[in-house]
Amino acid sequence: MTPRVRFAPSPTGRLHLGNARIAVVNWLFARCHGGRFFLRFDDTDRERCRPGYLAAVCEDLDWLGLDRDGEYRQSERGAVYEAAFARLRARDRVYPCYETPEELAALREAARRAGRPFRYRRGTGPPEAERRAREGATAPHWRFALGEGRIRWQDLVFGAREQSLAELGDPVVRRADGGWTYLFASVADDLDLGTSHVIRGEDHLANTGVQIALFEALGAVPPAFAHLPLLLGPDGRPLAKRGAAPPLAALREEGVEPRAVVAVLARLGTGRPADPGDDRTTLCRDFDLAAYGRSPARLDPREIRRLSVRMLRSMSFAEAAPRLRALGLGGIDERFWRAVRPNLERFEEVADWWRICREPLSPVREDPGFLEQAAALLPERIEDADRAAAWIAAVARASGRRGRDLYRPLRLALTGQEHGPELKCLLPLLGAARARARLEGQRA
Ligand code: GLU
Repeated sequence: MTPRVRFAPSPTGRLHLGNARIAVVNWLFARCHGGRFFLRFDDTDRERCRPGYLAAVCEDLDWLGLDRDGEYRQSERGAVYEAAFARLRARDRVYPCYETPEELAALREAARRAGRPFRYRRGTGPPEAERRAREGATAPHWRFALGEGRIRWQDLVFGAREQSLAELGDPVVRRADGGWTYLFASVADDLDLGTSHVIRGEDHLANTGVQIALFEALGAVPPAFAHLPLLLGPDGRPLAKRGAAPPLAALREEGVEPRAVVAVLARLGTGRPADPGDDRTTLCRDFDLAAYGRSPARLDPREIRRLSVRMLRSMSFAEAAPRLRALGLGGIDERFWRAVRPNLERFEEVADWWRICREPLSPVREDPGFLEQAAALLPERIEDADRAAAWIAAVARASGRRGRDLYRPLRLALTGQEHGPELKCLLPLLGAARARARLEGQRA
């Protein structure tokens, strides 16, 4: 059977590292098993969902490279829910309820006072609500009749689980305004779209028993479930809490490599550290849902930033080339890439070095006498790093300078910068003529 999975965000905000991790694991699961990966927007809550977030979520997933086999919006799938609801009605597994939120609150309060847990079941509603129903004055909301018994399932991360239905109240599946609750719509969708595995956050573990009961009431075999433990930030607080998880968009603006984000999120909780060589192929090869542990995983966003820099600095020219072309830097060859790569913090910085090597700049002259001495020793041509190193050695001998005293004034004059790629690698990129002119104080 071809696995079919879905990432189902509620578009009430931008993606952050917590929900991006769920997307990454679903996507990897599909890709490593030759399955299908769908994006489903859980946008039935009209008040909280903003249309702009749908596009933003797609943009974030595209940036991560998580390609999809289809996209759906719950708000457009009313017919699917009507059909599933009709089946439950035909089997007498849903029933209308008429009480107001205030009456419900009063029932809850009465149960609390009596020291009993509040569980709404058929017939719980107050007589007053029944009277209104008879008069047709209020539109009902609908609840699913859970029944008794126990639901048992094997969570692919959390192991054997059990839910006693008698402990729960009947959940609302349809609101009085005709809208659908997530709990029900999600089951109807998973059934309609043939979801084989529901991979989601631990916060949904508590819904699973009820959702399985819904699948069964609809006469269906439930999908497999895998819940990934909560993500904690470096301070031990849940990462999903507002402000603790940087939105993906912020990492992107910082220039973090998306491959680093995917690698760290994919490896998190598996005991296997992310590696600068990690890409879709290596992550797919190593993927195993059973490798995810049950205890909360800690994520320090700085780890992603560090990996991103390591990835840049070991990136092959073949990988860099299309991105260089996209930046209008198609003239950069492998030698140039290799020379500047060890200094990059973010990919776009390569453009700065290209400008420094290719466009005129006014040199910073700290020690004109020394720079003229160095210029006089420059050979006609600097073909490679060895030739450049020989020149630097000759300058060192002639001036008696070493270390910072030697390199700093040369670097400032040649590049206008205090730091940068190794001078011996940079010099062949600059060329002898431009190097000489800059050492002599000319704008070149
Ligand atoms: N919309 C739910 C969420 O964002 C989806 C849960 C599920 O995958 O079933 O948590």
